[in-house]
Amino acid sequence: MPENKKLKILIVSAEVAPFAKTGGLADVAGSLPQALFAKGHDVRVAMPRYRKVAGQHEYVADFSILMDSRKETCIIRKSNISFTEKGNDNKIPVYLIDNYQYFDREHLYCYFDEAERFAFFDKAVLEMLPIIDFKPDVIHCNDWQSGGICLLLKEKYKQNPFYSNISTVYTVHNLQYQGNYSEDTLKHLGLDKSYFTPEKAEFYGTVSFTKAGLNYADIINSVSETYAKEIQTEEYGERFEGLLKQRSKDLYGIVNGISYEEFNPAADPRIYKNYDADSVNDKKENKYRLQKEMGLPRSDLPVMGLISRLVGQKGLDLMCEAFDQIMKYDLQFVLLGTGDEYFENLFKDIRKKYPKKVGVFLGFNADLAQKIYAGCDMFLMPSRFEPCGLGQLISLRYGTIPIVRATGGLADTIKDFNPKTGEGNGFSFKEYSPKELLKTINRAVEYYRKEPEGWKELVKRAMQEDYSWEHSAGEYIKLYYRAMEKNTGRKEL
Ligand code: ADP
Repeated sequence: MPENKKLKILIVSAEVAPFAKTGGLADVAGSLPQALFAKGHDVRVAMPRYRKVAGQHEYVADFSILMDSRKETCIIRKSNISFTEKGNDNKIPVYLIDNYQYFDREHLYCYFDEAERFAFFDKAVLEMLPIIDFKPDVIHCNDWQSGGICLLLKEKYKQNPFYSNISTVYTVHNLQYQGNYSEDTLKHLGLDKSYFTPEKAEFYGTVSFTKAGLNYADIINSVSETYAKEIQTEEYGERFEGLLKQRSKDLYGIVNGISYEEFNPAADPRIYKNYDADSVNDKKENKYRLQKEMGLPRSDLPVMGLISRLVGQKGLDLMCEAFDQIMKYDLQFVLLGTGDEYFENLFKDIRKKYPKKVGVFLGFNADLAQKIYAGCDMFLMPSRFEPCGLGQLISLRYGTIPIVRATGGLADTIKDFNPKTGEGNGFSFKEYSPKELLKTINRAVEYYRKEPEGWKELVKRAMQEDYSWEHSAGEYIKLYYRAMEKNTGRKEL
């Protein structure tokens, strides 16, 4: 690989931390660019300018985009991801795609005109490039909201010399969210009906943004090796397994990293008391203060945390089935989450039933999340499926031992602890059943109770593991070269 070549990379995502976040996609889109920048590349980011993307942003340009037969104004503004690396203050440009009608709304997603909003976004990203005079080697699209870019680039823009050598990578962060809409979506994208075929963008009678990405990107990948394999099976493939198998030569798995600057217990201003692997006793202070904040009695019992979108994927049905049993163990449980009303009500009831053992905060709260990562002893992720999962990586960094179901990225990052050999960094189970969940929680709680010194060693080792972006960012660079090679026919690697 020509190591010294400076690649031009555009990362496109519907959410980017710290500007707008509903889940792990935002963390990745906010932190991967920093690691790529640190490796010497010219990386920039594009996302919609939602109402919650607060602040005054530098005006860059405006132009109009044809939506069906209407002209819609697109304003490009600019902000930055600011970060320090090796003592240098760096800034990565973030282009904010603005249109009041589409994006000046309370929430990020789930509106009636979702297909139109993101068709506009995809077209705007491509139209913006000559205007800002940035011709990327690679556009890295993430999840369905940017899938249309891969299709449009190959089928519409390629004839224009400005776009002809731009390659694409499409990353699947969660195959469950597909962006499947009516045939009108083609009109929004500016494409004719000939694209409504299974070889192109049609998917079970809909136009699918995910299919546009998976079919037309030069290279595709997912966010862990195991999930990249799982999605080629009927059980996890969400009906895309056939297409994914067909493209398996172009399909890779790269595990996500986390920002070790942002998630650093030694310096995190959001936690009660900073600590590192040499001062893990100071975790206790975080635990006591967390107990107080969550309305729980001060106690040395293990505290098990769960921070999650409250959706079926996350194994909450197992939790609920097993809950009365879990409450028989000597532990406390804190939950931070928001999502399905059904689960929100269930956890409200659980809190009422076990006020001395359960603390619940329903909502999205990034500061409280850090306090939970720092203050808990264990972190629970019993997911039904988990493309990568960031919670387990953040909790390792904070010395909070993950208890996980071995699926997707959880299987790749958490190795079951063996008290005899001392190997492993968490507790995991394979079979998706309340029985296995209970057994695994019990193993963790018992080890915590009986082997305080062993537990402390486990915590220290967890904190010393490296799940920063350093390695995975290098893998992404290789992927970008592969996409360029595939697209241009030139040997790049
Ligand atoms: P997913 O992307 O499926 O939501 P991940 O584990 O990859 O799951 O990432 C979830 C991210 O969102 C983590 O950074 C987690 O801390 C954060 N998060 C989830 N729910 C909340 C919440 N209610 N409040 C604050 N942060 C949350």
